[in-house]
Amino acid sequence: MNSDRMQRLWAPWRSAYVAAPSAPAAAECFICDGLAAQDDRHHLIVRRSSHGVVMLNKYPYNNGHLLIAPRAHVARLKDLSDEAMLDCQKNLHLMINQLDQWIKPDGYNIGMNLGKVAGAGLPGHLHWHLVPRWHGDTNFMPVFTETKVIVQSLEALYEMLTESP
Ligand SMILES: [Zn+2]
Repeated sequence: MNSDRMQRLWAPWRSAYVAAPSAPAAAECFICDGLAAQDDRHHLIVRRSSHGVVMLNKYPYNNGHLLIAPRAHVARLKDLSDEAMLDCQKNLHLMINQLDQWIKPDGYNIGMNLGKVAGAGLPGHLHWHLVPRWHGDTNFMPVFTETKVIVQSLEALYEMLTESP
């Protein structure tokens, strides 16, 4: 059962908040859209935790590229609660363990693009990129600037990461 949906059902006063002028930024946010929806597969959500969410990147820089985000729609690290920060770091650790097990990368790039000038495609909702790397795949910069062929389909990756242990 989706706790967001339950909260929505039992918190009708929130509708005023959702309709407030500050809402458009969140309304255009695919992370918030995914969290508010019921269909995790459709939104590529592979994990929900108390303060965080893990999604497949729909436009991966490399095979296994994941996005680790807080549930809260915040743009700056200073606006993130300690609980959300810890939860995101735990999700990062957990997903590295899973990717190690399933697709065995030789290493990872982990980073954030803070602000449009830094290349953030979604500047309003901060998120970490977790990008698996293999010897000889490519250099760091092209990973973040070029489109390339991804060997594994998003569907297959989703199946792997959501399979019960
Ligand atoms: Zn958001």
